[in-house]
Amino acid sequence: CGIVAYVGRRPAVPLVVDGLRRLEYRGYDSAGLAIPSKDGGLTVHRAAGRVDELAARLPKRLAATTAIAHTRWATHGAPSDRNAHPHLDAAGRVALVHNGIIENADQLRAKLAADGVVMASDTDTEVLAHLIGRELAAGETDLANAVRVALDQIAGTYGIAVLDAANPGEVVVARNGSPLLLGVGEREVLAASDLSALVAHTRQVVHLEDGDLATLRAGGYEVSRDGALTSRAAEVVDVAPM
Ligand code: GLU
Repeated sequence: CGIVAYVGRRPAVPLVVDGLRRLEYRGYDSAGLAIPSKDGGLTVHRAAGRVDELAARLPKRLAATTAIAHTRWATHGAPSDRNAHPHLDAAGRVALVHNGIIENADQLRAKLAADGVVMASDTDTEVLAHLIGRELAAGETDLANAVRVALDQIAGTYGIAVLDAANPGEVVVARNGSPLLLGVGEREVLAASDLSALVAHTRQVVHLEDGDLATLRAGGYEVSRDGALTSRAAEVVDVAPM
């Protein structure tokens, strides 16, 4: 349903939780977020119910300056803690939030199960986390490439944000049939499915198109299509703060 992601220099968790609250008006049944952890892995917090319930589960001070966050409107799998996003790959290296529907999730689930992958949720989304993790486990070092190869195997609609424990200073996002915008600030970049989560922080907005994949870092962003870099300039949006 809703996505917010941040990479920059400010504490990311309060920022993305605030963003999730701004998306609440769209409706949802669960919420969650993932951040890089100090031990070099990832930490995931998620909860069925309101963003308040997620916020109540969060430790007080989280120093992470990168985060991906989600409000879910269940299409595959009941609304529950275990089906809330983010979802992880088998190694716990990749975290993914997803809006939309993966049409060939059942076939991909069967294939992954045959390879010994045990699913931790009932969602269509989780298969994509495993596909990305598999590319990285096979030696791909560029997260954007791993995401592109994984996306080539799925049919359906998506807006996604991906975090890789080995690349904690970046977030990869992509869209196809689901809205996704970037917000470009001073030494920080945000992504969100809705303008309302961005305008508290910046007026410099990039409208991604279907088929776009973007890598966000504190210093800027890079957009590609089919693996080739493309240019997507930021536009200044003129809206009152929401
Ligand atoms: N299809 C996914 C799920 O059921 C994402 C739903 C959404 O867009 O929130 O988990």
